[in-house]
Amino acid sequence: MTADIFCQIIKKEILVDLLYEDDLVIAFKDIHPLAPVHILIIPKKHIESIVDLKKDDEILAGRMIMVAKNLAEKFGIDKQGYKLLFRVKEHGGQEVPHVHLHLLGGAKLSENIRAIK
Ligand code: AMP
Repeated sequence: MTADIFCQIIKKEILVDLLYEDDLVIAFKDIHPLAPVHILIIPKKHIESIVDLKKDDEILAGRMIMVAKNLAEKFGIDKQGYKLLFRVKEHGGQEVPHVHLHLLGGAKLSENIRAIK
């Protein structure tokens, strides 16, 4: 079975602009940025979607948010604010089947979250 693209990134089979790495997560620049700062924070462990998180993943889930917070400070977008976004499965618009937290900022962002009619 072919590993999802983020598992390939974790294994360094695909190179990215890596910004952070620890025992649980990595963070790198999104290849198609939707904002001046667009960073993805992903678990090293393969978890398809937020719905697949288990009780044991609490520390991991918290780590993703703390890494996003710290990177927002590092990139100087914490004062004016930013968005943190998890897309979850089809209705959430998730395309890559590996949990990822989007950190988006550096400009005032739109609120395009209405249901598609
Ligand atoms: P989502 O639509 O929430 O599943 O987001 C997937 C994100 O992964 C998109 O914003 C893509 O631009 C990003 N992405 C896909 N492949 C790569 C890659 N090789 N390097 C960096 N970002 C990627």
